Amino acid sequence: MPRASRPSAGEPSAPEGPEQPRAGLWVVATPIGHLGDLSPRARAVLAAADLVVCEDTRVTGRLLRHFGITARLRSYHEHNAPRVRPAILAELERGAVVALVSDAGTPTIADPGYRLVREAHARGIPVRAVPGPSAAIAALSVSGLPTDRFFFQGFLPPRRARRRAVLAELARIPATLVIYEAPHRIAESLWDAARVLGDREAALVREITKLHEECRRGRLGELAARIEAEGPPRGELVLVVAPPAAVGDEVDEAALDEALREALARCSLRDAVAEVADRFQRPRREVYRRALALVGERVRSS
Ligand code: SAM
Repeated sequence: MPRASRPSAGEPSAPEGPEQPRAGLWVVATPIGHLGDLSPRARAVLAAADLVVCEDTRVTGRLLRHFGITARLRSYHEHNAPRVRPAILAELERGAVVALVSDAGTPTIADPGYRLVREAHARGIPVRAVPGPSAAIAALSVSGLPTDRFFFQGFLPPRRARRRAVLAELARIPATLVIYEAPHRIAESLWDAARVLGDREAALVREITKLHEECRRGRLGELAARIEAEGPPRGELVLVVAPPAAVGDEVDEAALDEALREALARCSLRDAVAEVADRFQRPRREVYRRALALVGERVRSS
């Protein structure tokens, strides 16, 4: 008879019975729309918790009632955190099982809880994850944009000058950008993004896991014009923007020139153009023109 073996590193471990949560802080992800996304493990931890720390007790109360879970709730948000945190930490130090949730998605991701987690660690209190939905990862996964490197921005500043300054910082990051935005600000943020980042490829992902879920793809300017024509979209939004290499802004131009110089030093003009055009996903004609200019510069300076 085969003997049950212990899972080795990298293999998933599947406990046979329901997990009995141990003392400590449990960071529990909850659905971002579809209630079917609350994991069995999240339910077990919430049902066993001595205290559930949440943003809005009405929102979490509704979720728990739906699953027949009764729990002691305590609200924890931006405004009361400094006052409430010491009491939560004191309970944890007395050995309580405390679950941290937010209104939706993964706590601490553009949501409260970071300082609570940090201070729990500082006191030697175990902190465990009950992973699950997060709008940022869900949007990225359906965006059709590169996922090998991405940068999570969260919300952009509401005021235009500050927003453009933040976008200018983002312009230099060689990664896909994931941005949360409110429906009433999305058109102006898309215009600003097109202006500061360059008219990159993007995906606007709306109402993930809900009835009207959609993923609109196009250039930033195109998406902005559509929204301006149609009026603000309803519901919740995540904007995912392709990395600079997909379109080419100033940073890209410099990188493209550098790649061309390097390729021209070791192969023919034709091969250098083909290689760089493929790598930067640019039309060969355009790269050819740039290569001729670089060759001309080299001849003039020699
Ligand atoms: N902690 C949450 C998470 O992990 O997804 C994010 C909380 S943040 C305060 C809320 C923002 O997340 C919304 O304004 C929206 O940008 C995005 N979001 C949340 N649920 C969403 C959904 N179902 N579809 C699209 N975006 C969503």
